[in-house]
Amino acid sequence: MPGRLSGKKNSVKINFKCTRRVSIRGTPKEWNSLDIRGLQRTSLIDFPGEICATLFTGGCNLRCCYCYNKDLVFNPDTLPFFSQGEIMSFLQKRSSLLDGICLTGGEPTLQKALLPFLTAVKELGLKVKLDTNGTRPAVLRRLLEKEVLDYVAVDLKGPWQKYPLITGKNIDVRVLKETIALLKDGSLQHEFRTTVVPGILGVEDLLIISKTIEGSPKYVLQQFQPHPNLIDSSLCSTQPYSLETIQQAALRCRQYVQSVELRGF
Ligand code: SF4
Repeated sequence: MPGRLSGKKNSVKINFKCTRRVSIRGTPKEWNSLDIRGLQRTSLIDFPGEICATLFTGGCNLRCCYCYNKDLVFNPDTLPFFSQGEIMSFLQKRSSLLDGICLTGGEPTLQKALLPFLTAVKELGLKVKLDTNGTRPAVLRRLLEKEVLDYVAVDLKGPWQKYPLITGKNIDVRVLKETIALLKDGSLQHEFRTTVVPGILGVEDLLIISKTIEGSPKYVLQQFQPHPNLIDSSLCSTQPYSLETIQQAALRCRQYVQSVELRGF
């Protein structure tokens, strides 16, 4: 998830990573099923090498213990709704200033109107980065076939056996393997990434994940943020790993993947 989302009805406030805040008005409409519940007008960090707007979709099929977008996952209806028309109008006006969008969540692949929406975004000449938890490979395959994506970031939560502990769900790991294969076998720019949560993931877990994605161009290790509003409140007092520990882990992971990047440290 690129940023933490918070807001009240008809007015969304989004915490930039640089701690700046914006407020944008939106009016609920029922005429389309695309559920956008947050908009960050400009981001320099959510789409590698590009200036983008970041859009947050409502709802998720996982319940990750370290997730800090709790309202987006459990109560998206309590957040402001941005109609497709409002989003398209915003993007049209900003298309000369932006390189693209980052669509994040929640889990964007749950959105039924995803393909027509991304097709419209591409018609504006904007690039599309999709953030996904990798549990919906059929949707990803269709988006790849339709060539509406320019970059995909897949969150890998941990070694397969730790998925129930981390996500609160029993995931069929075959769907995750399918997502990995789709990206590894294709030519689209992509990254796999893991949020490194002390007490839940250790260095050996990161090595297991690296082996699972062996040969991949980029593996990102993301710093855990002990935010007060995490899904699992017992993690709020957990101290993140030190930079040194993760740097050492990154060196070991590097033997399996082409590059390892640290984010949020
Ligand atoms: S996949 Fe996990 S971290 Fe991402 S939005 Fe869903 S619950 Fe939160």
